[in-house]
Amino acid sequence: MQNVCVVGVDIGGTEIKAGLVDGNGRIRARRAVHSNSTGRREFRRSLDQLLKDLRKEMPEGYRAAAIGIGCKGIINTGNCRVRILPGPFRFLEGQPMAEWVRSGFGITVPVAMNNDAKVALLGEQRWGAARGKSNIILLTLGTGVGGAILSRGEIVQGSMNVAGHLGHISVDFLGPECYCGNSGCVEAFFSARAIEGDALAALRRGCDSTLASFAADPRSLTCRDVFTAAGRGDPLARSIIRRAVSALAAAMAGMAHALDPELFVLGGQIAESGDALFAPLRRELFQRTIGIVGRRIPVRKTALGESMGVLGAAALAWNAANTQQ
Ligand SMILES: [Zn+2]
Repeated sequence: MQNVCVVGVDIGGTEIKAGLVDGNGRIRARRAVHSNSTGRREFRRSLDQLLKDLRKEMPEGYRAAAIGIGCKGIINTGNCRVRILPGPFRFLEGQPMAEWVRSGFGITVPVAMNNDAKVALLGEQRWGAARGKSNIILLTLGTGVGGAILSRGEIVQGSMNVAGHLGHISVDFLGPECYCGNSGCVEAFFSARAIEGDALAALRRGCDSTLASFAADPRSLTCRDVFTAAGRGDPLARSIIRRAVSALAAAMAGMAHALDPELFVLGGQIAESGDALFAPLRRELFQRTIGIVGRRIPVRKTALGESMGVLGAAALAWNAANTQQ
């Protein structure tokens, strides 16, 4: 496999990133461009330019064996098209992404595409926190909660590629209604949006807290501030985090009972909270699974950091390249 690399393309809400990645997970060259959400034609022009520029960076003596794409939404992996993507990038639905990237990079090679959380899981499995494992659950903890499942080495796609919407596991059947139609979804309790909302609601009720200074400018309050205040012993912040962590632990216990994973990998902005999150979460997950699972399932933070999207797409591309041979 010497002198072969793949192209990983990460289509995000603010940037499209692309990289040339070798078999050891080293990014030999990388490029990024603002992801143009003004329309299909403009988006394609940005993508085209990005890939042309990246190709010029190809190391001497190397060739690209495959292209992998990670993108938000529900992806039809069979034909590399976005099936459902609500929001500003809806114009990508149904577009022939494989043709776009082949012509942009100027090469005819296998192309594979999948949802961003699913490719992130493949990257973490190949080069990151889940190296060598075959049964993994990845959760992305940000504004909402996303996820992906690897079972016996295969990404669980489900019958229509919808599998992995782990933020919509209900932890309270009488809980608040979610836009998905379910009620009490875990992301209504454990997500940046939920934790910030809980803190602001408590401040509006007049609860005493070191966070009270945010009441004047509620929009400046972040989930991280709530974790930091909890770490310093603020009682309000601690009770909010305790409840949110319990909701997440309950959802993860459900996943553990359904899927029996070797480990959980947590990514996204809230996973940066360190022991304030991981210590109580590990403890409660163990308590909730001790009877049937009967062991401590490791819970780790993602290891690939900022490059997770590009490396994940590259891992998908390596899978496609190796299947070809
Ligand atoms: Zn939901």
